[in-house]
Formats: sequence, structure tokens, C-alpha cells
Amino acid sequence: MSTTGSKSKAAGKTKPKAKGKKDPFEPRILAFCCNWCSYAGADLAGTSRMTMPPNLRVIRVNCTGRIDPLFILQALEAGADGVLVSGCHEGDCHYVTGNIFSKKRFMFFKKILAEFGLGDRIDFVHVSAAEGEKWASINKEFVERIKKLGPTPVKNVKDLTDISIDDDHTRKGRIHEILVSLSNKMGYEPKKPLHFDPEEVVEGYGFPKRDPDKCIGCYACYNVCPEDAIKIEDIQNKRRYGTLHAQCLVCKECEKVCPQEAIVIAPGFELLSFLLNEPLWEFDIPMQKCSECGEYFNPKPFCDNLEKKISEMKAEKTLEELNLPFKPYTTCSTCKRKKLAQVVAEVAHPALKLMK
Ligand code: SF4
Ligand code: SF4
Repeated sequence: MSTTGSKSKAAGKTKPKAKGKKDPFEPRILAFCCNWCSYAGADLAGTSRMTMPPNLRVIRVNCTGRIDPLFILQALEAGADGVLVSGCHEGDCHYVTGNIFSKKRFMFFKKILAEFGLGDRIDFVHVSAAEGEKWASINKEFVERIKKLGPTPVKNVKDLTDISIDDDHTRKGRIHEILVSLSNKMGYEPKKPLHFDPEEVVEGYGFPKRDPDKCIGCYACYNVCPEDAIKIEDIQNKRRYGTLHAQCLVCKECEKVCPQEAIVIAPGFELLSFLLNEPLWEFDIPMQKCSECGEYFNPKPFCDNLEKKISEMKAEKTLEELNLPFKPYTTCSTCKRKKLAQVVAEVAHPALKLMK
């Protein structure tokens, strides 16, 4: 019997782990590097034979401006222990401002993720093509930082095949979905609203702001919104206006259609209502009480505005001269119909009698 086989079998055997000893944690980190600076810097570090931990998987993108926030969120949701983004120094971007836009977007999402306890697991750095040494030291420091933080606390990670934007999702809708999922997995319980400063907010995030002194409650914005993002709620004698800003795509259709120029789309973000997908209520408008039945039927400023507009039309006959059987601006449509039906009946009844 040859001894080679038994020798090689023994060589192939893995050494049994010492009891109670755990494998050291080796984080899985994703690094997005821009083609023109950081990727070349990382390459330089490699070709210069600098030693670096093997935990980073580098993905080359043409510019950091190409990095969709979804890439970072999906990586975290898929179980990455950390995500690093590296681009050119400010002023050196091959596409002039790609890295500046990218950093602003990055900081916006980092602030959100920091609320869930994931902010330290992502970072944005600047490395030029000549800075191989800098890349090597950033690489080591980031791996050390993530090792100290330990494995990702995101549990029940998702399969990476499940991350596409399909017909049922807008990009913002998908981002909303992942942020809700991450916040749930992290056990994040928002207690109070968290408003971002407009300067912190990135393109695509905002909502309509109405001027309560100008808004007459005409519904035009509500009717035109293609995303059903504007919400109206009637509470007794008031009508409340608000926006679901997780759904608002800042298309500005509501701004264009408002007859009072009462609405502007402003950059803004509030985390609590975004995660809960609840309307961000703005203000209440008083309702007009029907002079006949006492029901509230239309916003009062809307009725007042109608009266003002009709009086400005200078019609041949004033409404008083028409001797209508109801007060036109303070009577609900049901009562108007009833009153008109009464008049018709009163006129028709004697006429019918005469015809007999
Ligand atoms: S369209 Fe303008 S006036 Fe009409 S409800 Fe909207 S904000 Fe108010
Ligand atoms: S900006 Fe567009 S999506 Fe947003 S509330 Fe106005 S109409 Fe709706």
C-alpha cells in the first residue's frame, strides 16, 4: 500500500479548532472607486506591493456621480459589513462636479442611516491616482473600524437577486422600501419628527408648501397630483391639507395648476413621516356651514372667492335681482337642488291644474 495517499489525505485535513475559539471576524466590505482617480490610486497601491487587508471588494465606476444611493442601501441590506466610496479630490473630477453631487447625496443618506445605527459603516473619501499610499492606509483603517464595530447588525439579509426596480416601483419608492426594511431590521423606533435642513436635502426630495393665507382649498392640486401624494382630511368644521412625501416625485404639477399661486415645491425631508408613509400635515382651512341644513360642505375661503369673482364679473343682473330661493355661496348643492325642485313644483302645480 502506497503511503502517498495517506500522507496527502492527512495534508488535506483541516486542523480541528481549539475548543471555545472562534474564527476571527473578517468583514465583507464593498468599495466603489471612480475610474479616473481612486481606482488608479488603488491600482498603484497594488502594483507597488503595499500590504492591505483582503476585505475590500472594489467596484469600478466611471465617476462617483454614477453611484446611485440604491447601490449603497442594497449592499447594506444584502449583508455588507461596510461600504466605502472613493472619488477624486474636489476640483479634480473628470466630469467637473460628479464627486460633489455624489458626496452631497452620500451625506444625506449617511444622516438617515446614522439614525438607524448604520452611519459608521459607510464612508466617503477622496483619493487621487497618485495616492497609492493614502489608499492603502484608508483601506486598513476602514477595515479596522468595521472589525471594531463587528458583523453587520442587519439580520435576515436579502438575496441580491431581489433588488431590481420594476414597473411597480419608482426609484424613490424602492429607496423608501429599503429604508423601511433597514429601520425595521435595526429595531429603529422613531419617536419624534426629524426635519432635514433644505441645504442637506438632495435632488428629488421635497414636497409642496402651501401658503395658508393664499390657499382657498380649491382641490386643484389634489386632483392633478399623479402620485396621489396630496392628502385631504375633513375634521368637523375644518379641512386639513398634507402631503405624503415618500410618494411626492417633485414633478411640480400642483405648483403649476394652483390658481392662487399658493403652492411652491420646496426641498425638504422629514424622516418619521417618510418611514411611516404618513402625510405631513400643513394647515387647516375653515369650512362653510350650509345656511339650510347646517352641514359643512366647502372650504369657506373657496366660497368667499367664488362670491368675489362673480361680483367682479359685473353681470347684467345681480344675484339679488334674480331672487334665487337660496343663498348661492352659503348653501350646499343638495339644499340648492331641493330648493329649486320646490320652486318648480310651486310653479308647475297651478299650471297643471289650469291645464286639466
Ligand atoms: S390648488 Fe392652490 S388654492 Fe387650490 S387647494 Fe391647492 S394650494 Fe390651495
Ligand atoms: S410635486 Fe407632483 S407628485 Fe408632488 S405633490 Fe405635487 S403634483 Fe404630487
